[in-house]
Amino acid sequence: MAYIKLNKTNFFNNLNIIKEHTKSVEKIALVLKDNAYGHGLTEMASLASEYGIKRAVVRTSEEAKKIEEFFEYILVLSDTTVVKSEKVRYTINSLNSISKFSNGTKVELKVDTGMHRNGISKSELNEAFSKIKEVGLVLEAVFTHHSSADELTSEWFSQNCNFKIVKEEASKLAEEFGFTQLRFHSSNSASLFRHSNFDEDMARVGIAAYGCMSLPSSLRVEGFKPVLSLYAQKISSRDLQKGQRVGYGSTYESSRDLIISNYNFGYGDGFLRSCSNNYSTPEGIELAGRVSMDNSSFVSDSDELLIFNDAIEIAKSAGTISYEVLTSLKSDIRREIVG
Ligand SMILES: *Cc1c(COP(=O)(O)O)cnc(C)c1O
Repeated sequence: MAYIKLNKTNFFNNLNIIKEHTKSVEKIALVLKDNAYGHGLTEMASLASEYGIKRAVVRTSEEAKKIEEFFEYILVLSDTTVVKSEKVRYTINSLNSISKFSNGTKVELKVDTGMHRNGISKSELNEAFSKIKEVGLVLEAVFTHHSSADELTSEWFSQNCNFKIVKEEASKLAEEFGFTQLRFHSSNSASLFRHSNFDEDMARVGIAAYGCMSLPSSLRVEGFKPVLSLYAQKISSRDLQKGQRVGYGSTYESSRDLIISNYNFGYGDGFLRSCSNNYSTPEGIELAGRVSMDNSSFVSDSDELLIFNDAIEIAKSAGTISYEVLTSLKSDIRREIVG
């Protein structure tokens, strides 16, 4: 099977850039959901902890449990199964979900400021606070999520305006219901870097930390370096004569005599099949034909091939985003920390 190299120097470089912007390492909550964007949950948790990161964000309680030893605070985005841990906080995504938690559970309330995906609406704030109090939950924060922080539209500004109103109302309600020191957060990677003077309590940073944030040129932030690179090994080679074809559907036809080799990275491992007939590696080596389940063929005879070292680039060939390229990588691929 192919294997992954995780570049620690690049990861720390990215965290340095993020820390400069949040002004303190305490304000960075590293998003480690979906196997740390395909990088490897425990590998990235351990590196983050070595760097000094104290907060993490995950999707499930199971993920939270796996990385508990590395952090002081873990926010679970969408799971109502409570694990025994003082460190874990749970997201309230709707009024209905409040009663799923039991007395004493630490929660954070998500408010919908325009994305219309999860979270309560502004008009439900009062009812939410009242229910949370009634069930006896410990409300620690109110937060929101941006739909378009990485796009040049007015949406980011309008959600910020809405969240400002939410903050004011929530602060009043917090006083009324006795939730002291309520925290607020709204930023993912792209949003964090749009604030010229970031002053929220925390930023939930994913893609920027992994060095694969893609932004329009006017929003671009310099200096990030991809953490993950993927290597595959040769299974076999053959001489191909001009006019011979390769792979399923025989979609690749050689325009000259050449050597073709087959490598152990296929769509079953997370190589997006939409790259078929439309991808060259960073070293300019051409993918020949369709991606198969367990392997793919390239115009090369090297024993090992760097398949990609920048998810943004390969995402272009696949017609998708770096997030999907990365999270498609299967968890049983070996991960090796270098640098
Ligand atoms: C995934 C996610 C993030 C991280 O987004 P990036 O664009 O990777 O920084 C932040 N907040 C929430 C609620 C998320 O679901």
